[in-house]
Amino acid sequence: MRKHLRYLILLLILLFVAVNEAVNKMRTTSWDEPLWVSIYAVNGDARNATDKYIDSLESRDFKAIEEFVNREARRYGVPIEALEVAYKGRLLSHPPQPPSGRNILQNIWWSLKFRAWATWRAWSSDGDDGDVELFVSYYDTETTQSLRHSVGLQGGLIGIINAFADNSYRGSNQVVITHELMHTLGASDKYDAGNMPLHPQGFAEPYRQPLYPQTRAEIMGGRIPLSPLQANMPQTLGQVVIGIHTAAEIHWPIDGS
Ligand SMILES: [Zn+2]
Repeated sequence: MRKHLRYLILLLILLFVAVNEAVNKMRTTSWDEPLWVSIYAVNGDARNATDKYIDSLESRDFKAIEEFVNREARRYGVPIEALEVAYKGRLLSHPPQPPSGRNILQNIWWSLKFRAWATWRAWSSDGDDGDVELFVSYYDTETTQSLRHSVGLQGGLIGIINAFADNSYRGSNQVVITHELMHTLGASDKYDAGNMPLHPQGFAEPYRQPLYPQTRAEIMGGRIPLSPLQANMPQTLGQVVIGIHTAAEIHWPIDGS
């Protein structure tokens, strides 16, 4: 009897999560009111230099993301301001880092832990939560040369972004944050195993003649294709567009309707 009760409770929890996610998904892709995106900074390596960099962050460092997405949304005919981005300052607790490998079970386990952590954090804080919550973990360039990957989860509407705590990365950090934000809204990656943007969906101007070099990146293609074998990371969101495939995935109107 007790065993059955336990199964029933588990089933109810799973049902609750599934319904909650379906509702979230509908809300985040209906574009009839602005989505609220909250961004938090985390000191990823506990270094003083990283702290200093986080001290220097201001709302306007993240407004660029709002301006970029709203500009692109307007281009597709979204009738409202698509996003409101708010920088919520520094967090002292750390989100769990994604596993470095591609082991599926480890990744599922991590995503559950991350969602539990984010839910707990939202419950135990008294501030307003966003529809989407992004946690940016900063690392000092003196001691960190390569970052763990960043992840945006559509289920849970949360993302973790690993970023360099250095002024020269301010623009490219915005690009990475926006890429993960797009994942939370249902966009998929558009690059291959060698990090080269896929044609046509990962190109800003897929039908341009000549095709190379491109001057801008598609947000989910990730890089600016210069030749079939070479692509550069965009330095600012000014070098990025949201392509038609990504727009369709996040339910923006793409046929003028
Ligand atoms: Zn991605």
